[in-house]
Amino acid sequence: MKLLDVNNIVLSYNSFKILDDISFDCNKDQFVSIIGPSGCGKSTLLRIIAGLEKSTSGSVKYKNKLITKPISRISFVFQSSALLPWLTNIENIKLGLSRFKMSDALKTKKAFKLLEKFQLERFADMYPNILSGGMKQRIGIARALVANPEILLMDEPFSALDELTANALRTDINYMLRQSSVSVNLVILISHNVEEVVALSDKIIILSEKPSRIKRILDVDLEYPRNKRDQKFLDYVDKIYSILMNE
Ligand code: ADP
Repeated sequence: MKLLDVNNIVLSYNSFKILDDISFDCNKDQFVSIIGPSGCGKSTLLRIIAGLEKSTSGSVKYKNKLITKPISRISFVFQSSALLPWLTNIENIKLGLSRFKMSDALKTKKAFKLLEKFQLERFADMYPNILSGGMKQRIGIARALVANPEILLMDEPFSALDELTANALRTDINYMLRQSSVSVNLVILISHNVEEVVALSDKIIILSEKPSRIKRILDVDLEYPRNKRDQKFLDYVDKIYSILMNE
């Protein structure tokens, strides 16, 4: 079932083209990554999909409905966790419910459930400054998940973390998002890390330098959990490097 339709997106600033005719679609139960050189417009594209920015032309549809502004069925995770330091961790997660009319007790209950999922419940009433980078990013992701979104957009969520922490978080997130108890049916991840996208994705959209066009859309046919030393895994990595660099 098709969840998201990106049609002929063009974005120009002062007649300087950044995104040039980007089209793709995403189905239910997919993990889709968008990879491309730094500055090619990946974050801009994700913001357009989220309804945070308007394209010059083209459209984005969620279940056949045009996206013109942010909607609660689509959540966004930022590169840095963007937590508010004056709010406790549970209050930060509850921010994800600020647009909803529900009792504070219910918001607390929902936020606490997510803290449990991430095994951070003992940090509920503490402030973000005592958390490690990986824990902060987990709280940021919990805030994005608390409103039960169907689509989760993630803009380089692992890139500010050291490699060991990033790896642990990738494995956790991947496992969690594939559980049926989580509302998310589609993830779109922005990345510039080739190994990361091969480890996580069902589909990889490879963008060119600016003005950014789609160079290739690649389906990844590998079982989970994926082993970075498998020859098939390495073949995908080589293929993506060669598309990024040569085509
Ligand atoms: P990426 O995420 O691939 O690194 P971005 O989406 O952040 O790339 O940016 C793409 C390009 O668009 C950059 O060259 C940036 O300078 C330009 N850009 C982004 N926002 C604006 C804006 N509001 N005005 C002018 N240029 C912008």
